[in-house]
Amino acid sequence: MRSSTLKISFVETISLSGLRHKLSYIFKLLAYFLLVGCSSPIENINTDIKSEKPLVLTTFTILADMARNVAGDRLNVVSITKLGAEIHGYKPTPSDLIQASKADLIIENGLGLELWSKKFTNTAGDVPTVVLTKGMQPLLIEGDTYAGRPNPHAWMSPNRAIIYVDNILKAFVKLDPAGASFYKKNAQIYQAKLRNLDEELRRHLSTIPPKSRVLVTCEGAFSYLAHDYQMDEAYLWPVNAESQVTPKRMLKLIKTVKQRQVPTIFCESTVSSKTQREVAKASGASFGGNFFVDSLSESSGPASTLLDLQRHNVRLIRKGLAPDFFLNE
Ligand SMILES: [Zn+2]
Repeated sequence: MRSSTLKISFVETISLSGLRHKLSYIFKLLAYFLLVGCSSPIENINTDIKSEKPLVLTTFTILADMARNVAGDRLNVVSITKLGAEIHGYKPTPSDLIQASKADLIIENGLGLELWSKKFTNTAGDVPTVVLTKGMQPLLIEGDTYAGRPNPHAWMSPNRAIIYVDNILKAFVKLDPAGASFYKKNAQIYQAKLRNLDEELRRHLSTIPPKSRVLVTCEGAFSYLAHDYQMDEAYLWPVNAESQVTPKRMLKLIKTVKQRQVPTIFCESTVSSKTQREVAKASGASFGGNFFVDSLSESSGPASTLLDLQRHNVRLIRKGLAPDFFLNE
């Protein structure tokens, strides 16, 4: 009885707010086009969201993967940014905004990751939005121009990813109360996988000799991973939103790599590794390949889920920083 009452009131809420949505959305969309200019012809706008299921939009592919693990086949989960996209300074397209106006829920990371999200959700209309890091105590960026700001890449800690899943679950139960027990079961299964992943990463990364425990990347996106598994980190720039390579930043990193005798350094899939390869050359280190951090890979690639993304990265780290142990395994 209670659940059917809740369901009716949910439907009523949707239909009333839906009307308000549409009106406010039309005005906001017009205003947005006037502001940014609309070069895409309307007929090219992607409107192929045909699913009858509630539409959940996430700001990037990794959150979509996490959300799908909880949603199962009850919800249609779509990422706004595509595979390989730069997610920090993304510029939403008119078709993104049309998609957003049809959404039943928008999921974002928060902690300053999506510089575009406020304008985006405002323009999209009255769509409920959940911020997965809300209430989380973040690690702060140290040094450089972003010093003291929260590091937004909290999903790179499996233990924090478990909190993301709690927040996804809460949002889905609110969106679709009839599916509560289904979502809860899915969330528990996925959280158990994340707990196992934490143990797996801890076991693998413990094989790295103490002197080689320095993770050198392009973006400072690995603070949570480094923190959880007792590694130091160094990087070319703090966040991709501000990824300008300056001689000062390069020289600083070359000095660190030399001083710490770091054998292998890395970059990430969503940015150019050109400068990092130059740092490797100048410091005598090897370039160990690209991590995935802000985006998943194609489904045929090595990081098509968050779990595989972490495994791919850790494999590269071990190969580069603990080669003897890695090859003898
Ligand atoms: Zn990033």
